[in-house]
Amino acid sequence: MAALEILQFPCWDDNYGVLIHDPKAGVTASIDAPEESAVREALEGAGLKLSHIFTTHHHHDHVEGHGGLKRETGCKIYGSAQDASRIPGIDVEIEDGDRIAFGSFEVQVLETPGHTRGAVTYYIADAIAPGQGIAFTGDTMFSAGCGRLFEGTPAQMWRSFEKIAALPPSTLIYCGHEYTQANIRFALAVEPGNEALLKRKAEVDALRAQGKPTLPVPLATELETNPFLRVNSPAIRESLGLGADTPPEKVFEELRRRKDTF
Ligand code: ZN
Ligand code: FE
Repeated sequence: MAALEILQFPCWDDNYGVLIHDPKAGVTASIDAPEESAVREALEGAGLKLSHIFTTHHHHDHVEGHGGLKRETGCKIYGSAQDASRIPGIDVEIEDGDRIAFGSFEVQVLETPGHTRGAVTYYIADAIAPGQGIAFTGDTMFSAGCGRLFEGTPAQMWRSFEKIAALPPSTLIYCGHEYTQANIRFALAVEPGNEALLKRKAEVDALRAQGKPTLPVPLATELETNPFLRVNSPAIRESLGLGADTPPEKVFEELRRRKDTF
């Protein structure tokens, strides 16, 4: 079975654009189109013609290139039915559980509201190798962190995190922004003794010192290091002053509240 070719590149100050290409079928998708000129340069540099845009959410720093790239390439734009009126150029309205054919691959749609009401995570099984999938979480989950709750409740965002956590641990997670270093500072404040987190910090600091991205990151690493996935950690609960009987979504809510003012 063929593998997807994946190209991640910086946009704006700290966004990432990603192109995925199925060489066998000759299709190319952009995950969001954060910055028109950056996406166009990435396409031209790789000699690819855009056929799809998979939108994670409607915020300007993720859809700025939608209109221009669609006019140039005739690509089809996919996005949440919940946010059809806010996603420029949308052609195909998607919802939870949809499976979109992309060359010889299948793009699975997980509705993950919280950051925005129509936020979507895309999962592609076997994208890199058999048993090795990838996921695009947009601004829902970041490495060691969580997107801001602009349009959802903490309980909703927690359910979105549970959906992502249920993907195979080998899944490589791509996120909308390079926020990892700042997220780790907060994660360490609430779970200072987490060995996996200290190891991840060293790796992330070394990557950033070389100007390299900290993404993608295996879900397995996130499960060991991302406090928002670790609401059952006794150490985190203790830091927050919450007991073993506090429901997970309440721990999540308190974490998000503290991060807002960290
Ligand atoms: Zn956003
Ligand atoms: Fe964003």
